[in-house]
Amino acid sequence: GSQTSGNDLTHGQEDGERLGVLTLIEPIGYVEVPMARTAPAVDGVVDAVWDAAPAVSTDVQVEGSPGASADVRLLWSGSALYALAEVTDPALDATNSNAWEQDSVEFFVDPTNAKSGAYNPVDGQYRVNFENAVSISGEPPVQDRLTSETSITDSGYIVEVAVELGYEPEPGQLVGLELQVNDATDGARNSVRTWSDPTGRSYQNTSR
Ligand code: CA
Repeated sequence: GSQTSGNDLTHGQEDGERLGVLTLIEPIGYVEVPMARTAPAVDGVVDAVWDAAPAVSTDVQVEGSPGASADVRLLWSGSALYALAEVTDPALDATNSNAWEQDSVEFFVDPTNAKSGAYNPVDGQYRVNFENAVSISGEPPVQDRLTSETSITDSGYIVEVAVELGYEPEPGQLVGLELQVNDATDGARNSVRTWSDPTGRSYQNTSR
């Protein structure tokens, strides 16, 4: 004979005055990532192991006008997430002293999909420019979790990475991920594109 309610502790929902609030947001990107039979060699080359890997693309324009974009293939093996980003960018530029204003790909990884908002100690922002210059934002364990290699292609460049998750996931585990392409021209960033999060705040907030 008792009642419990989520928001209205008077259980008087009929008057509609104490309902909870939903904020409707864009869909959050989702992709099923198969376990690799053999872990990819992180060498900036599209090895055969990538043939059957699913790909997502950076279709969300966060800043500037449409510029460099990437198709990113994903796999996992053991305790690591693997990504191979093929970036279309006809003019490669790393002249700005700010790493995020150089032609680069960023990988935001929340290993257990905690979606805690502010970064947990295990959450990391991993940036790799087309010359394989690496910059990482995160607590000390995160600083050692990236392996990367790059190569230049006819249409742009490839960034291949392995990111250690810090545990061995089981199939079915969710991992929080965002992908971002920074496009620079003549020393200035004029396009930022992501896979999922339209806020441009993935470097501060893992919720999307
Ligand atoms: Ca560029």
